[in-house]
Amino acid sequence: MSDRLLKGIGVSPGIAVGPTVVVRWALPEVPHRVVPRTHVEKEVRRLRAALKDVKRHLTELQVRAEDRAGVDEARIFDAQILMLEDKDFVGGVAELIRENRLTAEKAFEFKTLEVRDLWTSVGSPLLKERLADLTGVAIRVIQHLMHRGDAEVWDSISQPSILVARELSPGLTVQLDREHVVGLISEEGTRTSHAAILAHSIGIPAIFGLRDAVARLPQGAMVILDGTRGTVLRDPTPEEVAEAERREARRHELAAHLEEAVAQPSVTLDGVHVALRGNVDLPDEIAAAQAHGAEGVGLLRTEFLITGHSVLPSEDEQAVYFRRVGDAFPGYPVVVRTYDLGGDKFPAPFRTAPEPNPFLGWRAIRVCLDEPELFRTQIRAVLRAAAHANIHLMIPLVTRLDEVERTREYMNEEADRLRQSGIEAAATVPLGVMVETPAAAVLADRLAEISDFLSVGTNDLTQYTLVVDRANARLADRFTPHDPSVLRLLKLVAEAARAAGKPASVCGEMASEPLSAFLLVGLGYETLSVAPPALPFIKWLIRQVSTAQARAAADAALAARSAALALDILRFALAEAVDLSLLDPDARLPAGRRSGSLRL
Ligand code: PEP
Ligand code: MG
Repeated sequence: MSDRLLKGIGVSPGIAVGPTVVVRWALPEVPHRVVPRTHVEKEVRRLRAALKDVKRHLTELQVRAEDRAGVDEARIFDAQILMLEDKDFVGGVAELIRENRLTAEKAFEFKTLEVRDLWTSVGSPLLKERLADLTGVAIRVIQHLMHRGDAEVWDSISQPSILVARELSPGLTVQLDREHVVGLISEEGTRTSHAAILAHSIGIPAIFGLRDAVARLPQGAMVILDGTRGTVLRDPTPEEVAEAERREARRHELAAHLEEAVAQPSVTLDGVHVALRGNVDLPDEIAAAQAHGAEGVGLLRTEFLITGHSVLPSEDEQAVYFRRVGDAFPGYPVVVRTYDLGGDKFPAPFRTAPEPNPFLGWRAIRVCLDEPELFRTQIRAVLRAAAHANIHLMIPLVTRLDEVERTREYMNEEADRLRQSGIEAAATVPLGVMVETPAAAVLADRLAEISDFLSVGTNDLTQYTLVVDRANARLADRFTPHDPSVLRLLKLVAEAARAAGKPASVCGEMASEPLSAFLLVGLGYETLSVAPPALPFIKWLIRQVSTAQARAAADAALAARSAALALDILRFALAEAVDLSLLDPDARLPAGRRSGSLRL
């Protein structure tokens, strides 16, 4: 069994059974052929005709994506279309044809490899996102020139299949045809990769960080993918398939059970209300958060407004979007996080010089404060939407007090300007700080004094505290918010907010995990913002525990000397209140420490 069982990181729960379809993001082999000098201009014309055809095809795909994923997500194709129109790039290919008498496909291949080498040598994770766009376009154009048909992934899929890839970009993930793709496996990435967060939100079972997946899972291999356990079982026996199907049926049954929780209040056994909000990355998650009873949006990511678009979004466009989200949650807050650009989020229209250490570089609030027009436009949009809905503003990656003070100044100035221009807008909105750096956590008492609320971004807080790249699959075991150092910071922030009389919440992925949600309640957080599909689960859990139980568990976890021990303590404590086998097989008690009351 063991060599058939592969282990990765379960990033989106659920079981899928089916054959694998390997997605190769490789350019096709292009034969080297020199054309007669008299044919050179014909090759250039062939190139231009192909670019036109591919552009038409991409536009058709964009329309299809609009139906499937929504208008905003479909704009991800803009970046690819833009590449086809890039004068430098296209001119460079034509030059290669003319100077070296190459075929159009060979010249296109050369130019693509040249640009790819250039981008790769920079080593920026930000450029990586655009690399996938470049490869995607090149594959389409070259296939077309070679009369090979297009490179659509799912056109070749005739039955529900499991996609295997070296890497999945958010762009590819958002385009997935859920009827044909029932599961995802990626060699790269972890739970906090944006593609993983997207897969979780869309509800496709997925495993990331599965090393050598492409080599170990050949095309058409039958597998059972368990996104909850993070396992892939190759060549399963009929009994194993039947067992997996039973488990999946049970999961669905449980999900139906959890749906009941949606209409019930989110209160602990001792009557403490733990507000559960949704994290919304893309517009189609608004409906999911609503359907799962979210009490507002605790983290409205805004990068999608830029990513994959050719131009920056206007103030009107943003104001309309923020109001739309606000209107979806009447009476509840919607926390708009200002652009978290840089790091792993590098949008096409926002070209910057590559940096050797982008995660320690010019990103998030630093970009916004240095680009006042970009920032002020977003602030104005928030103030305008706030005239009609309960909108809050939150700034990411804060490390210094003056970042909050300057933001407040900008907000006051923009509110004045809007008032003077007679434009309907709120005079101010609550201004919150994302605590996602050790600096902010240590300064939480002073940040709480000058802001209106704190919200802990545990994805980045863990990354920066433990010096572990959140997207590095090799270090996935080290990336844990249960490390004693992170737990201390979480406690520090909760206490600082309480002392200042300001609300504190957690909006990192951690809040979407049952054991961690239990811990966070115990540490004193009374607001959690979670991935929409996890809302019923977390609410169901909260309704079965008391704050006294959670506090005792959190105190014990804080005293643990390692993340593994802290997790053991939490499992053990939670098992007193909840049948853990219902939650997640990985949430089981360690062997030999199971309580008799458990049904495992
Ligand atoms: C975080 O860092 O925890 C967070 C919520 O922000 P993002 O994942 O968008 O960086
Ligand atoms: Mg963050």
